[in-house]
Amino acid sequence: MGKLILLTQFYTFLMNREGLITKGVGGEYTVVCGDETYICTARGVFRNRQITPFVGDYVVIDTDKKSIDSIKPRRNVLKRPPVANIDQVIVTMAAAEPAFHAGLLDRFLVLAAREEIDAIICINKYDLHKESDEVFLPYVQAGYPLVKLSAASGLGLDELMGFMEGKLNVFAGPSGVGKSSLINRLVPGASMETGDISARLRRGRHTTRHAEILTLGDGFCVDTPGFSSLDVDEIPVSDFDGLFIEFIPFLGLCRFTNCLHDKEKDCAVKEQVGVAIHPARYESYLGFMRNEPGWMGDKPPRRRG
Ligand code: GDP
Ligand code: ZN
Repeated sequence: MGKLILLTQFYTFLMNREGLITKGVGGEYTVVCGDETYICTARGVFRNRQITPFVGDYVVIDTDKKSIDSIKPRRNVLKRPPVANIDQVIVTMAAAEPAFHAGLLDRFLVLAAREEIDAIICINKYDLHKESDEVFLPYVQAGYPLVKLSAASGLGLDELMGFMEGKLNVFAGPSGVGKSSLINRLVPGASMETGDISARLRRGRHTTRHAEILTLGDGFCVDTPGFSSLDVDEIPVSDFDGLFIEFIPFLGLCRFTNCLHDKEKDCAVKEQVGVAIHPARYESYLGFMRNEPGWMGDKPPRRRG
């Protein structure tokens, strides 16, 4: 009897493999295990317990039954698109068309920090860039990796690939900056629709989007941009300082524990403005914290809390 149990366990061991869910449509999940791909269903256990496997989940599957047996603990979950275990957000802005907008960039960086996901910055359409690079300096000083590139000319693509290697990446950023064009350039066989936004929106209404993970070299990339519909409005005023990553070393050093780094005396953050903190980023922080319109779109002013 003991032998039989051992044999069964050994058989299960042989049939079990770990993999990554790259796609999930109608209860069928595509699981990539190294060079092999399996289409699996979620076992009843999950359905009963109302656990839904997500794209990005690392799972153990039974290759014989083609079922997902267990989900590894998640590092994080992005709600929009629903993807688990994101390693890195590639916040994409255009150098021009649409014009570079620091407040909008800060908004996406704040949202990434809020999800505790590392961010890098991509400045696409660098082929159209005419002004000086000064506007990008605050971000380099803050410690963000920043890649200047052009999906049109191919400039900087290798550098970006280097940053994406071995990670699960998601692009974020406003419409029209070239996220789809970049994915098409980076991922062999990708055919994201690019260009005219209104035409895409019209078409989009009739199709349900399921985020899918695309393989690129030694890494992965989600085919749907992240964050676009999340709102910084939900973030409490006192949380913003921790979401400006270069402020973090100085938090807790102010005289007042509840310091908002605005009008307070003996503020360790303010002391660093012009030193470790770029004045433009500090101004931007104040904009978010006071919820001033213009920093992140056109929100009406909100009372300070
Ligand atoms: P998305 O909304 O961020 O996905 O942007 P798209 O990829 O659809 O690109 C919007 C428009 O910008 C398209 O017409 C692209 O052809 C164009 N575009 C994308 N990348 C570049 C670039 O590097 N340089 C130039 N000049 N145009 C680009
Ligand atoms: Zn302070």
